Amino acid sequence: VALSAQDEALVARRARVLGPAYRLMYEEPLHFVRGEGVWLYDTEGRAFLDAYNNVASVGHCHPHVVEAIRRQVGTLATNTRYLHGLILDYAEKLLATLPAALGHVMFACTGSEANDLATRIARAYTGGTGIIITDFAYHGLTLAVSEYSPTLGNAVHLGSHVRRVTAPAAYRTEGDVAAAFEAGVRAAIADLHRHGIKPAMLIVDSLFTSDGILTEPTAFLKGAVDAIHEAGGLFVADEVQPGFGRTGDTMWGFQRHGVVPDMVTLGKPMGNGQPISGVVIRPEVVDSFGRNARYFNTFAGNAVSCAAALAVLEVIEREGLMANARDVGAYLLDGLKGVAARHEAVGDVRGAGLFAAVEIVADRASRAPDRELTSRVVNRMRQDGVLISVCGPGYNILKIRPPLVFTRENADTFVDVLDRALAAR
Ligand code: PMP
Repeated sequence: VALSAQDEALVARRARVLGPAYRLMYEEPLHFVRGEGVWLYDTEGRAFLDAYNNVASVGHCHPHVVEAIRRQVGTLATNTRYLHGLILDYAEKLLATLPAALGHVMFACTGSEANDLATRIARAYTGGTGIIITDFAYHGLTLAVSEYSPTLGNAVHLGSHVRRVTAPAAYRTEGDVAAAFEAGVRAAIADLHRHGIKPAMLIVDSLFTSDGILTEPTAFLKGAVDAIHEAGGLFVADEVQPGFGRTGDTMWGFQRHGVVPDMVTLGKPMGNGQPISGVVIRPEVVDSFGRNARYFNTFAGNAVSCAAALAVLEVIEREGLMANARDVGAYLLDGLKGVAARHEAVGDVRGAGLFAAVEIVADRASRAPDRELTSRVVNRMRQDGVLISVCGPGYNILKIRPPLVFTRENADTFVDVLDRALAAR
């Protein structure tokens, strides 16, 4: 690993000051000093194509968002205990992108906090505590949410009120994925009942991101949603990764499944880097919670974050970024299919808008995950100036999730670099 002396010193300083729980990406860590659009620039001025960042979803340092933040932070930065129009302008514009049944939005600062709040609301509404998740889910890091985020690592224990259901990976499932998932949810409900636990919610990332980016088929959630409703529980769509137009055809991932959740949680791309998240809720679901508990979250929904979030929605609209995600995403997927045709190691490619997965296998017949090659590909692409990461239970799925301003030319670069990384075996 050829780190500069300065970066070696930073790595040592991080360990000394920040302690052992932080991780850097890549065998050769990166040190960026500037970002613009789809590009990140390191200390040497080298440009890296960011094909991984869905926080800077409308592009790094988008001028319209930067200006909205600058203007608001220089005018007033205060909280939800005073009247202010901006939070309402934003809330109305956001709610207009969601089904009419979801009539309220409550703000938080991180995706974890949004899911934590959704959990409390689900418990209050249902009187239950049971939570059903997918096998390899990640929903966040608060104490309550870490108890249903199995990918956090060995130090985290799943709650005794949590049940896991295998996510419906079409590439690895025989038969009907909808029926398999529904059966899994029904079995989880039965097991909760057997242990005297009343179900509160089924929560899924609507693209099953950490379970491996399961974009196909669509419309398989209805049976599972009916099952949780019959059991008196709620259905929560975690849109922290799929949301805000990324899937191209729809603004929200759950819309690909033709279901309307009881709650939707939002985060990452919402403020293009400014910390803002939220829970969108059916009004009847939050009614008793709201009457019995006050909600004040110091930084959440502050005027600066709302200005950023409003600017993000404006950019998505003005620049036609959903259409771009759809068009460039389809173009990228075609390119990835070409890669699959040239390299035996690619077992499957799939995608929805600008969210794509390339599954790396030891051989196509057994479909055995090749974790080691996957990691080498990611590190080689980084050496060639393209950033992605890995997901899935076998750590063998290339996770491709560029900013929504990604162009066809960027997609060509991406495909070339991936081709080379796979060829250099
Ligand atoms: N839900 C999902 C699906 C996520 O991917 C993440 C973050 N990776 C979270 C929740 C938690 O968000 P945050 O890191 O903002 O707390």
